Amino acid sequence: MISVVGGGPAGCIAAKYCAREHDTVLFEPQKRDERRVQCSGLLSKSGLQRLGIDPSSGSAKAFIQNSVRGAKVYSSRGSLLMVDGGKDKAYVTDRCAFDNHLLDEALNAGVLFENETVDKKNIGDIRSRSEKLILATGTNYNLHKNLNINAPCEFLYGAQYEMKIECDPEYVEMYLNVPGFFSWIIPVDDYARVGLCSLDNPVPHMDDFIKKLQKGKRVKDPQIRERNYGIIPIYNPRLRTEYHKVCLAGDAAGHVKATTGGGVILGGLAARNAASEGYEKIWRKEIGKELYLHLRVRRFLNNLSEKNTDKLIRLLAENKDLIEKKGDMDMASHLLKGFLGRPAFMAKFILQAPAHLLDQV
Ligand SMILES: Cc1cc2nc3c(=O)[nH]c(=O)nc-3n(C[C@H](O)[C@H](O)[C@H](O)COP(=O)(O)OP(=O)(O)OC[C@H]3O[C@@H](n4cnc5c(N)ncnc54)[C@H](O)[C@@H]3O)c2cc1C
Repeated sequence: MISVVGGGPAGCIAAKYCAREHDTVLFEPQKRDERRVQCSGLLSKSGLQRLGIDPSSGSAKAFIQNSVRGAKVYSSRGSLLMVDGGKDKAYVTDRCAFDNHLLDEALNAGVLFENETVDKKNIGDIRSRSEKLILATGTNYNLHKNLNINAPCEFLYGAQYEMKIECDPEYVEMYLNVPGFFSWIIPVDDYARVGLCSLDNPVPHMDDFIKKLQKGKRVKDPQIRERNYGIIPIYNPRLRTEYHKVCLAGDAAGHVKATTGGGVILGGLAARNAASEGYEKIWRKEIGKELYLHLRVRRFLNNLSEKNTDKLIRLLAENKDLIEKKGDMDMASHLLKGFLGRPAFMAKFILQAPAHLLDQV
């Protein structure tokens, strides 16, 4: 028997794939309609397809709230990079409904569901009864401690409010106005998800951001429908994710893109192989390079001054055709390869980038 702890995307996907060859039990304490999720729910179409989820299927209607075609990225000095990836480039999803969809897929595959928390009292027993134990506990790292397993130790701190905001329903907005990350506006229907992550307390940054939106007359109704706060692990390529009989997937393993904080797709891709022999090697081969590239890009961006970030946004705007053609929200290598193949971009980039940062690229 294989035991999977955590019924978020990583746990449900791991359990569904495990059930093809093993008796599988999934432990999740939250009730279907009472799930508390901290997420903007922005998922790329290609990422969903890589996970075997067809966004045009009837069942996807239960979790897709909106579809977007691109992004407007603003530097803190106001320069704009507007990328149009074409119709349905990404979907805004209701994470509670999305997680329930994945849970149903796992149950249909034969997974046994246990509506309970695993903690230090029962983990020993569950572990000894299981051929393999998969921890997909998101950012709850208590079981890592109980089992003496290393956990991610660097985090981003996120805050997100649902509000009525004047915005284009087909574009997400990103503002490079928070040290170490960005703020976002994600259109849902008559409201939007307004949020940000930072390396420190996100609330004061959020207050500033909302004030700016109010000043720009973007806030249609000052009432906040819902407030969410959550942490996001920063990917650590050295974190071991497979031990004797125990392995980690999703946020529990830090499988998150450091550029955007998105963890559903890459965490889900890793989780598909959680029951396989040599799991660690398999996920590293498939997505390790991508997670690492996201990390390098994030470090590079975090070391740029405001002025150089602005220059970079303008240079990217001049080359937006390439981003539109090659950009993939999950696989960073696709776009980076595209840039390497464009000498005019590379020449300008090398001339403009501060020399001490070039070795980080
Ligand atoms: C503000 C914010 C916005 C985000 N926006 C996006 C986005 O737009 N797109 C994106 O891809 N990612 C986004 N993320 C990240 C995304 O939410 C996570 O990467 C994703 O949820 C990870 O999935 P998971 O299955 O690993 O963990 P989770 O979704 O956290 O699921 C873990 C599950 O484990 C259960 N669990 C925990 N402990 C135990 C236990 N001891 N016993 C039993 N069950 C347990 C929990 O109840 C939970 O259901 C965002 C994160 C934040 C904070």
